Amino acid sequence: MIKHHPQEALLLAHAKGELPLSMAIAVSAHCTLCAKCTAIVAALTEQEAQATLSAGSPEDRVTASETDMTLVPDPLPRELQAMLAHIFSQPEANVIPSHAPISLSVRTTTYSIPAVFRQHLTRPWQQLGKVCRMRFDVDELNTRASLLHIDALGEIPQHTHKGYELTLLLAGEFTDINGEYVPGDFILLDNQTHHAPKTKTGCLCYTVLDAPLHFTKGLSKLLNPIGELIY
Ligand SMILES: [Zn+2]
Repeated sequence: MIKHHPQEALLLAHAKGELPLSMAIAVSAHCTLCAKCTAIVAALTEQEAQATLSAGSPEDRVTASETDMTLVPDPLPRELQAMLAHIFSQPEANVIPSHAPISLSVRTTTYSIPAVFRQHLTRPWQQLGKVCRMRFDVDELNTRASLLHIDALGEIPQHTHKGYELTLLLAGEFTDINGEYVPGDFILLDNQTHHAPKTKTGCLCYTVLDAPLHFTKGLSKLLNPIGELIY
């Protein structure tokens, strides 16, 4: 069961369409895997829509306060009215939105991942040992978003972060000092956490980092290549 969800502030910003691309992808992909957060975002979106409607646009307020005229839309031509009435009278289709998961092959495994990733899978995989990374083009200063794949029995050396580190587990499992994670877990860490994620069976994650990793054990010079791969 998913234990780690986006903070409500993130869900609200997502509902308002205010998240940067890297984080919007993460929250959207999490919601694909989490019915609970999907319901919260739907409720927040509805709430925002209601608030926007009752506030009205600035032009509307000027019109209402400065004139007594009531704006009545031009009546629709009779044929158009009839046509719309006909359209609206049809039963609602049970549309299956084009949110079907996409399949992605990495190394020897094919994964099913949320559709939100589709348009971002443009760059080749880079590999170092058991770790593969596919960078996304998000164009956000120091923020970097990637898919990260770790083979079975792979591990990221113990590190902390100068900024934040978001990991959304998409498939497989990994563990760190805070326990075990399952697909859908949304793990947002600050620079206080030192951890060394490791996986027994392999995993696929989406990661967002806004600064390079800082290794806290071993010779950082030797670890630089893996750090560069992950950031
Ligand atoms: Zn959730």
